[in-house]
Amino acid sequence: MKVRVDRELCRGVAACVATAPEVFQLDDKGVAVVIHPRGVTDDQLWKAAESCPFNAIILEDEQTGEWLYP
Ligand code: SF4
Repeated sequence: MKVRVDRELCRGVAACVATAPEVFQLDDKGVAVVIHPRGVTDDQLWKAAESCPFNAIILEDEQTGEWLYP
């Protein structure tokens, strides 16, 4: 699974960091960045994406590029 953060939507709530600190961190602007896309299992990645109240975490199929979430 491919993960990225829509930096326009992110409001720095850091729910993603709390859920998957191996993958997400806040940068010096307080916006989430992906530091290690394969840091957790797909299930955990999914939970982290669902934890974002702004739907700023985007999941895509690595092979097909299909938009999976949100
Ligand atoms: S949970 Fe969403 S809004 Fe909060 S830091 Fe992560 S991506 Fe940004």
